[in-house]
Amino acid sequence: MVKGKAPKKTLDSYAVKHINKIVKAGDCVLMRPAEQSKPQYVARIERIEADARGGNVKVHVRWYYRPEESIGGRRQFHGSKELFLSDHYDVQSADTIEGKCTVHTFKSYTKLDAVGNDDYFCRFEYNSATGAFNPDRVAVYCKCEMPYNPDDLMVQCEGCSDWFHPACIEMTAEEAKTLDHFFCESCSSEGQKKLQNSHAASRHSDTKVDTKRLRR
Ligand SMILES: [Zn+2]
Ligand SMILES: [Zn+2]
Repeated sequence: MVKGKAPKKTLDSYAVKHINKIVKAGDCVLMRPAEQSKPQYVARIERIEADARGGNVKVHVRWYYRPEESIGGRRQFHGSKELFLSDHYDVQSADTIEGKCTVHTFKSYTKLDAVGNDDYFCRFEYNSATGAFNPDRVAVYCKCEMPYNPDDLMVQCEGCSDWFHPACIEMTAEEAKTLDHFFCESCSSEGQKKLQNSHAASRHSDTKVDTKRLRR
């Protein structure tokens, strides 16, 4: 600390004039990257601080990492809007805030009717020194045993309730969308019997196979 430095005060909120938005602690924001060609940085504001006269406003942030910025890089199951909440804290000038965004939980993200430009999701915390994730394991689906990528279309087996990528069960996405019923290979013989019974009860008669939505 520099001696005689002006005392700081914490602000409850701050109006970022050039984007005409009010930010406060807990908000997720898009910040100007060091290089113009890079995507905007995403951060969660921890605290907003100004000098005694309310000037020189700084935001204390906790960075979200994009999969390509992580040590392991982007994996196939990472969604295009996926972010990792890192343990990397920083202080930035409030003027580098370029917009606000929403970082959803994985569950609420998969339930969005439409994914907007400013919608992201986070299911992992990320240790920037070791590259480790928390949780370090997640549920896997399909024959390929991959975690769910919410960008991908999947169909659910009515027998075992597992989800499958159309490509992994030799089906096109178009075919998958028009399926009335789906039983995976291992449930097939068992499933056909059940299906005949359920037809009698007509319980499933007009329900389409549940498909996870295709998202960008
Ligand atoms: Zn698969
Ligand atoms: Zn099955």
